[in-house]
Amino acid sequence: MCWWIRVYGLPLDKMTMSTARKIGECFGALDYVDGRQINGNLGEYFRVKVELTVTNPLLRVVLLPNGDDGPRACPIQYEKLNKFCFFCGVLGHEVELCPKDVPKDMALPDGS
Ligand SMILES: [Zn+2]
Repeated sequence: MCWWIRVYGLPLDKMTMSTARKIGECFGALDYVDGRQINGNLGEYFRVKVELTVTNPLLRVVLLPNGDDGPRACPIQYEKLNKFCFFCGVLGHEVELCPKDVPKDMALPDGS
């Protein structure tokens, strides 16, 4: 399944195709990058389309190289992922309300 994600916290000079590819690798595959947003033309986040494997726990951050400062942890937001359960992959409920036995570290609310 391909999905748009937004990556926050990237410096403008890191909003590049090479970063997009690294983000894609964190997920498995990069599907698409909107070329207009290279170098931050679309604003505060970097938007890329990646191939998601819904049976894997979804990432909440990606670690991206940041020169001498070491990897930078960039928060991710998944677009249009309302009422989608990351755990069992079913639409209609969120992971917090999953009837299945969800591991605790997946049930943490955003912002924790
Ligand atoms: Zn569920």
